[in-house]
Amino acid sequence: MNHLQSDVLEFRSHIARWVDERLLPQAGRLDEEGEFAFDLFRELGQLGYLGTMYPESAGGSGVSYPFTCFTVLCEELARGSMGFAAGVCMQGSTATNTLYEWGNDTLKELYFAPALRGEKVGAFAITEPNAGSDAASLKTRATRVDGGYVLNGSKIFTTNGTVADFITVVATMAPNSAAKGLELFVVDTKSKGFHVGRKLDKFSVHCSDTAELSFEDLFVPDNHCLGDGKGGGFLKAYKSLTVDRIFTAALALGNAQAAYDASVRYARERSQFGQPIGKFQAVQFKLVDMLAKLEQAKVYTYFASALADRGASITTEAALAKIIAAENCNQLCQDALSIFGGYGLMNEYPVQRYLRDSYFPMIGGGTGDIMRLVVARQIGL
Ligand SMILES: Cc1cc2nc3c(=O)[nH]c(=O)nc-3n(C[C@H](O)[C@H](O)[C@H](O)COP(=O)(O)OP(=O)(O)OC[C@H]3O[C@@H](n4cnc5c(N)ncnc54)[C@H](O)[C@@H]3O)c2cc1C
Repeated sequence: MNHLQSDVLEFRSHIARWVDERLLPQAGRLDEEGEFAFDLFRELGQLGYLGTMYPESAGGSGVSYPFTCFTVLCEELARGSMGFAAGVCMQGSTATNTLYEWGNDTLKELYFAPALRGEKVGAFAITEPNAGSDAASLKTRATRVDGGYVLNGSKIFTTNGTVADFITVVATMAPNSAAKGLELFVVDTKSKGFHVGRKLDKFSVHCSDTAELSFEDLFVPDNHCLGDGKGGGFLKAYKSLTVDRIFTAALALGNAQAAYDASVRYARERSQFGQPIGKFQAVQFKLVDMLAKLEQAKVYTYFASALADRGASITTEAALAKIIAAENCNQLCQDALSIFGGYGLMNEYPVQRYLRDSYFPMIGGGTGDIMRLVVARQIGL
């Protein structure tokens, strides 16, 4: 991606070095242990990467092209470990963006500023056991009481959920009003009535923390509501969820880059029938097709992030970027596994991890079907 601006390329070279030196050597262990890597997370905060999306005036890193740089950050981190990258992606975008856009000074001081420094972990919870793609049908209820609101309900699949200090929770003020009744509340996880049901055990992105949560008569003070308390908060936050699709596409790119690089290396090293397998035209063509899928996905994803930096509407482009990148990169990882033959199934080779992790961008942040529905609506169908 050498056509990117010189400051973006410089940003990439710095984070790529950090990934090579700090994340890559630990990626296999993180996947095996399946734990949130607090030390690496804090390090990224100290280095300023968790503030990539925000101006210096807000405590962020003040980069010239925040959406493109955050895309680079997600891509590079996922080249090392998609599981680790997923938690950082949540922290640096949706979990903090809702506070940046709609948080008052108290919320910014309590959560936003420490989150950018890597001292507090954030999450965003909308999905419920019976409300996934149809998020507007969620049941978590917010009831107005003196001085604030009381939340009751449960959430599932919350990234960073068991380790979070604060979570932006989407709840309904008016159960029959669908999306129009949804409001956003910043929940401090030390609050009475907040429960972590369990940490979920997954096939993919092992070291990304994924939780089931519940709220039982949990009191949220007035100043922790991100909307006007009448139910319009979620429709505002939808913009943040839209741009997040580009970052999920970037996670797919980084993971696929790692799978492609490993496959090229393996095709050079592994010999059968007296020559490296990379000398067989079938293997060469497969590698070239993998590269074609990866380059197509990169070009479109960075096109979408450049549009976001220009302030353009990106509803269609972000959804298309997620479809193209997630699906191309999943197919690439399937091909990568086949190049490794039997060794591809062995845990000592990371290619099985790349394939497992490649399913996450196809589901997290909305499935491919839902992305297609979004685009179909945009073209007036
Ligand atoms: C690892 C992980 C991390 C996640 N992190 C978070 C998080 O931090 N916060 C959060 O709130 N959520 C999170 N999610 C939830 C994620 O956004 C949902 O899993 C996703 O939106 C799909 O919802 P679902 O799993 O309930 O599937 P369902 O909605 O039940 O879908 C099941 C199948 O039906 C299809 N389908 C559903 N509706 C339609 C339709 N109208 N047309 C065509 N096909 C349809 C889907 O495409 C899918 O194939 C995470 C999920 C995962 C796996």
